[in-house]
Amino acid sequence: MLKRSSAWLFVLIATFVFGQKTPIQITADLTEAPRKLYHAEIDIPVTAGPLALITPKWIPGYHSPGGPVADITGVVFTANGKTLPWRRDDVDLYEFHLTVPSGVSSVHAHLDCITTNVTASIAVLEWERLMLYPAGIPVHDIPIQASVIVPPGWGIGTSLTPISAYDAQHPAGGTVHYAATTVEMLEDSPIMAGAYFHEYALAPELTPKHYIDVFGDSAEVADVRPTVLEHWNRLIHEAWAMYGAPHYRSYHFLLALRGAMGGGGLEHHESSDNSLPERGLSTDNDEMVGSGLLPHEFTHSWNGKYRRPAGLATPDYATPMKGELLWVYEGLTDYLGELLAERCGATSAEHYREALALDAANMDNTTGRAWRSIGDTAISISGLATSAFGRGGNAWANWRRSADYYPEGNLLWLDVDTTIRKLTNNSKNLRDFMVIYLNKGGGTTPTVVPYDLNEIVTDLNQVVKNDWAGFLNERVNGINRHVNVEGIGQGGYKLVYTDKPSEYLKARMAQRGGGTDVWFSLGVALDTDGTTITDVRVGGPADKAKIFPGEKIMAVNGRVYSKDALHAAIRQSKTASAPMHFILQNDTMVTEADVDYHDGERYPTLERVEGTPAYLDDITKPLAQTGEAK
Ligand SMILES: [Zn+2]
Repeated sequence: MLKRSSAWLFVLIATFVFGQKTPIQITADLTEAPRKLYHAEIDIPVTAGPLALITPKWIPGYHSPGGPVADITGVVFTANGKTLPWRRDDVDLYEFHLTVPSGVSSVHAHLDCITTNVTASIAVLEWERLMLYPAGIPVHDIPIQASVIVPPGWGIGTSLTPISAYDAQHPAGGTVHYAATTVEMLEDSPIMAGAYFHEYALAPELTPKHYIDVFGDSAEVADVRPTVLEHWNRLIHEAWAMYGAPHYRSYHFLLALRGAMGGGGLEHHESSDNSLPERGLSTDNDEMVGSGLLPHEFTHSWNGKYRRPAGLATPDYATPMKGELLWVYEGLTDYLGELLAERCGATSAEHYREALALDAANMDNTTGRAWRSIGDTAISISGLATSAFGRGGNAWANWRRSADYYPEGNLLWLDVDTTIRKLTNNSKNLRDFMVIYLNKGGGTTPTVVPYDLNEIVTDLNQVVKNDWAGFLNERVNGINRHVNVEGIGQGGYKLVYTDKPSEYLKARMAQRGGGTDVWFSLGVALDTDGTTITDVRVGGPADKAKIFPGEKIMAVNGRVYSKDALHAAIRQSKTASAPMHFILQNDTMVTEADVDYHDGERYPTLERVEGTPAYLDDITKPLAQTGEAK
């Protein structure tokens, strides 16, 4: 909350406007990145008097007050060689108060940041880790000029414009200076740096230009297979075909291939900060599992960065964000990202449907939907986020729910897409909405054009008249015990469970560990070792037997526990009349439980409903190759 008096604010603005001609200068020193330490030297133009400096709190893309101020350490302010005392704000812990002595026109700040987002040879700098600037001023009005120092031999990937000689293909480390920009654009332009680096130009026939900067912990990892590069080339064409003109001067995918599992991304206007497992691109199956990531973050350049819900388009990083429309910001992006991954060839239509089935099944088995709407998961994400995404992760996560507006949004926008097709006899589809929604001013440089719910409804009605307000309200704000599979149904398919995991689910479990393999049968999620129960599906067979998260399985049906023994017992349950018998350990106690389950293995997939329009098959056809592209 901002709580300064207006007189105080006036002093601040006057102070800064006076010194505005000179940009803040920040030098980020990443030479100690392998030791998990970043440093910054910052020169801030000032005038004498009270000064409030602030570091980002509400980080775009996180939609929550997660700025890493707790990791910012070693803060020292000096002016004319003398140390200046500072005091942290009592309420806003991101803000530092100091008094600038008369005759001083520039304050120097040194700070360090403890960071975990590094490996021995890869560093990622999102600028909220080091940036400091005057409080109370819109961040697009604050000029700043950045320089970066990396270890010798390291390459740099970024959308910032270098003004000193630097050849990314032949990196030599050292200092690189970048053109002056604003605090808003610097925050939106991360740096990825590393010892093993390969920059590839994508779709070079198009302007503006696109690059992917790939970093690994070895040279071999940063070397990408030609088929993967071909998919990424097609991704650019598919995105342009679906969204029209971009709003970037050039675009850099920054990609770190690191670690055994996981991955994630953070969207920016002219770049995205992505990570995949080290072997995340090594085989077609590995590529398929993480295929949605780059298309998702790329889509955000249009939907999320350029078009942004009014509640998330805040003037600075101190103003709280409102997440009520995240089912558009993230949900629509989730739908489009998965679709583009399929259209560019990074996954097949069949595997796309299998992933869709997993989303639908996960959401249908998220029991917290009995008390919370999708809309509530969006509204509350800024304060109530959990890492588990309500899909069998942390204890009782399925009852709590988490950022479910991603997978629910995927299903919702499929519903919108197929409803438009149904109402127009397949002559219109979601692309017609995108053309209207994405054609709202803004040029070829990064611009934010905010929207509200009324605009979404108006744009949809422009595509085809329908009660879109009621349609969206029912699906977003209603308490619906079962997942919305209308889009799948209208697409010509239905969600079913079979006794074998789909190819997609098998590949996913191989890359990311178990977790979900007995979720749809027994109703328990297991940790990566496969022994400890991390979540129990409320109302499921294990829940009815009073099994709970945190317990360890020691034996099943008289056999010492192993994953194989568990699956054998599940398979036998179909013909067994007796319940499954478990011996469990809870801390120092041992208990027994009988699970009355007889349905064998259960894994979700989609099945074609013959004789119905197969809109889903139309939806998965590439656009750029069918002449529909502009
Ligand atoms: Zn996203």
